[in-house]
Amino acid sequence: MSEPLPDFDLEQPKTVDQAVAAAKADPDCRFLAGGTDLIVNMRRGLAEPTTLVDLTGVSELRRVAQDTEGLHIGAAATLHDVGEKEVVHRSYRAVAQACHGIAGPGHRTAATVGGNLCLDTRCLYYNQSHWWRKANNFCLKYKGDICHVAPAGKRCRAPFCGDLAPALMVHHAEVELAGPDGRRRIALGDLYQEDGADHLRLAPHEFVVAVHVPPVDPTSVRSGYVKVRLRGAIDFPLAGAAIACTRQDDGTVSFDVALTGTNSRPFLLEGVMPIAPGQDFEGALDELQKLVQKQVSPQRTTTTAAHYRRLAVSALTKRLAGELAAKLASM
Ligand code: SF4
Repeated sequence: MSEPLPDFDLEQPKTVDQAVAAAKADPDCRFLAGGTDLIVNMRRGLAEPTTLVDLTGVSELRRVAQDTEGLHIGAAATLHDVGEKEVVHRSYRAVAQACHGIAGPGHRTAATVGGNLCLDTRCLYYNQSHWWRKANNFCLKYKGDICHVAPAGKRCRAPFCGDLAPALMVHHAEVELAGPDGRRRIALGDLYQEDGADHLRLAPHEFVVAVHVPPVDPTSVRSGYVKVRLRGAIDFPLAGAAIACTRQDDGTVSFDVALTGTNSRPFLLEGVMPIAPGQDFEGALDELQKLVQKQVSPQRTTTTAAHYRRLAVSALTKRLAGELAAKLASM
């Protein structure tokens, strides 16, 4: 069944201020960049903005630059362009791996960093055609009043399935936001909250302008990103893990771990202990695996069992942590 796009007005600002002004003029507006998520959702009746503010003409948002304060990535930079940057491959490998693992090559030439960070949450009962959802009385994320995944609950459990957020979070990234009250900068993790129907902590008419990532010494820090998905060539993560492994001069290794696909927000794993030289390394990785299993909260939102996703992401985390530590030790 064909699902045509609804009518909307299109604004094409050239500056951030013009974009904010265009958004303020229509309470039902949405920001658009690559459109690989939003346009699909609009065709399915999951979003009905009356105005789209196209951010791709704002040159500031497409800039990718490096200086002594680190890496600065404009929100409208494409995943393809960011993934191809030499500095990203050298110092922020988790980010490069996340970029290369998102959707297919064609999508990546259009899809943007800001779009992936602001990806809508996903659910088996939500990412369906309008007629399918209507036949099932919709759900509380949109137009309905019951959650088919957790009928006794009052909160949407749809998971966030962006790949880039965890990869940037383990590198301590901050996001710069612009809106009617000006600009502000927050830790990337603070952009999200645990509510599948309202997972972005953005003020009205506010949008992501850029991501700022501190400098990294690639001789003592190595990062990576892994995920499990249904279709290996092109799919959202059922669960994904990013890790930045840091090796101190005395041989102690520590891990920053961020997870996606299991909760309504990407989040940094809490309580990860460093591993000192001479410590039972395999035992410490087993503890890390248990920590992941305790803190993730996958629900029945995909065709794949929640328990499988819990076990898979914990196993992926353990394996990646071991590989990154081994790589640093050999350098
Ligand atoms: Fe709807 Fe529940 Fe799925 Fe959220 S988790 S999208 S409320 S069915």
